[in-house]
Amino acid sequence: MAQVRRIPERRCVGCGEHFPKNTLMRVLRTPEGEIVLDLVGKASGRGAYLCRNAACLKRARKSGRISASLECAIPEEVYDRLEGEIRDV
Ligand SMILES: [Zn+2]
Repeated sequence: MAQVRRIPERRCVGCGEHFPKNTLMRVLRTPEGEIVLDLVGKASGRGAYLCRNAACLKRARKSGRISASLECAIPEEVYDRLEGEIRDV
């Protein structure tokens, strides 16, 4: 029996498009107030999503949309790690 599993969609903060959650990268603010990259999507906390598109990352970085969404400053190294993730694809 084939079962259709619905994958939840999330909005990319760069382009504003919706994508299946498992294709997006997640920047997470942990309950401790730490900003981390959550590539598995399992950690708890408040998240902002980005699709794997260098232009989206650039736009999000420039506009500060991730930090606006998380209501917290994003360390440069988090952006650098996101950049690295995109390049690896
Ligand atoms: Zn995007």
